Amino acid sequence: MANPLGIKIKEVQKDITRIQLEVSFIKRILPFKLKYNVYAIKIESGICLFDCGSEETAEILKSALRGNRVTQVFLTHGHVDHAGSGRYWLKEGAQVFAPKEECAMLRSGGPEAAPQAFRYPGFEPTGTVSPDDRIALGGEFEFAVISTPGHTPGSVCYHEAHRDILISGDILFGPIQGYMVTFLLEFLTALREPDANIRRQIASLGALVSNGVIKSTTLILPGHGAEYYIREKPDAVKRSSRLLSLCLKL
Ligand SMILES: [Zn+2]
Repeated sequence: MANPLGIKIKEVQKDITRIQLEVSFIKRILPFKLKYNVYAIKIESGICLFDCGSEETAEILKSALRGNRVTQVFLTHGHVDHAGSGRYWLKEGAQVFAPKEECAMLRSGGPEAAPQAFRYPGFEPTGTVSPDDRIALGGEFEFAVISTPGHTPGSVCYHEAHRDILISGDILFGPIQGYMVTFLLEFLTALREPDANIRRQIASLGALVSNGVIKSTTLILPGHGAEYYIREKPDAVKRSSRLLSLCLKL
């Protein structure tokens, strides 16, 4: 489903919907549209979001949820296209949880060194998540918090073992060529952040495989681009590591 606001909605599994939103970024320099995903999980008390996108698209996201109340938001990291509308959802009465190491970034509204277009209204999250925390959402959903530092110092993924799904934030690159631009932009931002560390991200990717979080049967729900099973893109981890190594040479 698509509409003029650039929103795409797809139920990727029962009670899990991917909502793709887009904003025009750096309008004066180049007409570049940044597309990003928010995942909406239907739970008994309403909707739980994983990442929430920019504040610019918060109203569009709200209308896409068709009156279902957002009770909780879990963030993978503090970049604008993942966490930028955190303040909005707090005002809407949701609880917003973020990795502890990302909280300073959330309070200041994005990476200190980032250009204005990558900044957002700062906010104090309701609470934090830590590596290996278990998030029981009622029913069949229980997400484990997986520490994957590198893209930002406190980046995490959320893994649901029964469904074998991984909400991967920006740890893995989308398989589509067009998203290269998105990631190069993200990485140029990351390079400005003294704490972002591409080598750490390559190590985090390796650990996801060696620790058995990513298997051939795992469904990856990325921050950008369409979902995919690892068996369909068996070289996804390698490709991401290769691209990261390339970024090191930029
Ligand atoms: Zn990011």
